Amino acid sequence: MGLSFPAVPEPRNPVDSSLFSSAEIEEEALRLQGAIQQHQRWPIETCRNIAPLTLQINRLKRENDVFLIAHTYQTPDIIYGVADEVSDSYTLSKAARDAPQQTILFSSVRFMAETAKIVSPHKTVLHPSPQAGCSLSDGITAEDVRKLKQQYPGVPVACYINTSAAVKAECDVSVTSSNYLKICERLPGERLIFVPDRFMGAHLQTSLAGKKEVIVFDGECEVHAVFTGQKVRDWRKRVDGEMTVLAHPECSADVLEEADFVGSSEKLINEAKRLGEVGKPNIMLITECGTAERIVAESKTELNLYGACVMCRHMKETQLEDILQALIAPRPDQIIEIEPDIISRAQHNLAEMFRLAE
Ligand code: SF4
Repeated sequence: MGLSFPAVPEPRNPVDSSLFSSAEIEEEALRLQGAIQQHQRWPIETCRNIAPLTLQINRLKRENDVFLIAHTYQTPDIIYGVADEVSDSYTLSKAARDAPQQTILFSSVRFMAETAKIVSPHKTVLHPSPQAGCSLSDGITAEDVRKLKQQYPGVPVACYINTSAAVKAECDVSVTSSNYLKICERLPGERLIFVPDRFMGAHLQTSLAGKKEVIVFDGECEVHAVFTGQKVRDWRKRVDGEMTVLAHPECSADVLEEADFVGSSEKLINEAKRLGEVGKPNIMLITECGTAERIVAESKTELNLYGACVMCRHMKETQLEDILQALIAPRPDQIIEIEPDIISRAQHNLAEMFRLAE
């Protein structure tokens, strides 16, 4: 009755293992298996198959002084095999800004790599999978925001960080799933435009009721939109004993009403670990599968994860082979380029986020 995970990615091409000795490959395979902590889904043979890839990527990173950032929703072979920093979008945007390396490889979806370029315009930002989009960021354009501003002149516009650079350039401040309540409450005035996530916007409307009117755009995350409050209620009936429900704020209001804890992926991971340590191992996790895979790998106690995670097809576009290829010979579409004017206006937006969140 536990959580079911998506299939382990198969290597796309035969892997060249001639660059490393069999002892190096064996040592790397054992490191990978120990870090991923899912011995049935990631048996040692699978880890041996990908070990030459992770060894080669890590060697190239060192030789070329590349900082590799991966979002939590990437697959475990990327997260535990080659990433230097793994987290949610807020922490990663700071990591990209503060990294001393002049080249950043962002293993994630397009808008996150654009965000890294906005905060570090002098750095080279590589994005191995240019086709990896996001239903939220692709569901709104800069023109949509300009129309809203014409309709509601003078009203501050906050955008979820899951937006393109061009959309950020039109908005006053970005927010993430770890800071949207705090930042939106601090914005001046009694009205606020929030784009593009209608579920997070509804959560804001409830939280700020009586303080601010929140005008919400009609976008959604195709992953978190799948969950329903009814599914949570059904699982509560099936599980013997107490079960704690942890949900991401991109879920709909009826899911959030059923949840015991709402937070960004990083907060959900920390809460799951904490629950295990205080003897509450029954957890229903309502978010993308990568969060559950990190909890399995990083929790020091045994947890029972219930329900069914949902996979983001965009986040899972990137494989180790794409990262290796982008490190060896990046194609033009794998190097993030943004017009200076858009960078400058989007920088102001993100600087406001860092200022208001801290
Ligand atoms: S999980 Fe949702 S919000 Fe995140 S990248 Fe996928 S579609 Fe976008």
